[in-house]
Amino acid sequence: MKKVVVLGSTGSIGRQTLEVVKELKYEVVGLGCNKNVDLLKTQLKEFGCEVGAAIVSGDGLFGGLDAYTDLVKSLDFDILVAAASGLSSLKAVLYALEKGKRVALANKEIAVCAGGLLVEAAKKGELIPVDSEHSAIFQCLQAGKEIKSVTITCSGGALRDMPIEKLPYATVEDALRHPNWSMGDKITVDCATMANKAFEVVEAATLFDIPYEKIKVTIHKESLTHGFVTFVDGSIISQVSRPDMRTPIRYALTYPNRSNIDDDFDLIGKTMTFSDYDEKRYPLFKKIVEGSKRSAASSAFIAGLDEGAVGRFLKGDINYLNLHRIITAGVENAPKGNITTADEARAYYDEGVNFAKGYKV
Ligand code: NDP
Ligand code: MG
Repeated sequence: MKKVVVLGSTGSIGRQTLEVVKELKYEVVGLGCNKNVDLLKTQLKEFGCEVGAAIVSGDGLFGGLDAYTDLVKSLDFDILVAAASGLSSLKAVLYALEKGKRVALANKEIAVCAGGLLVEAAKKGELIPVDSEHSAIFQCLQAGKEIKSVTITCSGGALRDMPIEKLPYATVEDALRHPNWSMGDKITVDCATMANKAFEVVEAATLFDIPYEKIKVTIHKESLTHGFVTFVDGSIISQVSRPDMRTPIRYALTYPNRSNIDDDFDLIGKTMTFSDYDEKRYPLFKKIVEGSKRSAASSAFIAGLDEGAVGRFLKGDINYLNLHRIITAGVENAPKGNITTADEARAYYDEGVNFAKGYKV
């Protein structure tokens, strides 16, 4: 029986991971969250697990900023599921990979902010993507290595059908009404702006060591195929499944095997459409990709910038238009430089968060 640690177990991905872990009958040996200690304790009890971590510590739990790393270092485990937000699990993820463990990576910020460190550590361990598009591409790449391009699909987010002239007045509620996926709030807003897709392009370049010119994005409203790979002979291999994060989570836990599930999903009567994205509707996409390409430091700064700006939008402190203004200004001011340690990645990320928090609109 595989032993699993879930960091961010109280969040959207974390809770779905626990559902899959239960179905697979794997053993939970450690759980971590930020501050939702009540739910964490309920989860620990439910899974008969004694060891947990909460950044905002509770009695009997690892606490403080290094709580996730302390937790992981104290455990004997096979798979670490990185499902916490931001860079909170970066050091724990690097540690697990360096110890030769499998990391099921949902958290894209780590790939965006510390890609070089992640890839280096992954040489000793096993890194399996959980982000649905990257899980799809990971699966498609098993068909061959002669790649012409990889394509990340994009639903278009909650505001895809709102008239462009009304977008500046989109409310938090509008931006959170995702047509296909049920996710945490931050990433749902990122889907509306397509910042999420921009980060996913950076994530794909990092995880698959593919040049940016070979990574494409297409609007696919039905969210049935999550990614595909075009090979040099003109064949396209795609992965199709319900828009349900439990599918890529399950695959990352069982790879290279697949587990049976009770599901009658098929394609009869379904339609798949593909189109280019509209730059006027999603002006941040290109800005973020271009800005992130400049250097490792820019990439980490921009991820933090987006975190800070979306946090302000979700609190009602700024409107949708100003969310765009802040990110645009931040991308233009992003620092350049290399990243050689986890602390450096964190520092650039925090600089981005602080830029967004302090920006006067
Ligand atoms: P949620 O906001 O639902 O959950 C976040 C989790 O991280 C919670 O367990 C939370 O703990 C914990 N957390 C938040 N802040 C901190 C912190 N400062 N230190 C330590 N832990 C923290 O997010 P999602 O589940 O939506 O997303 C998690 C990650 O997965 C993100 O990186 C996201 O980009 C990625 N992802 C998510 C997808 C989705 O479908 N949701 C799809 C693809 C990728 P607490 O509850 O105590 O606050
Ligand atoms: Mg995704």
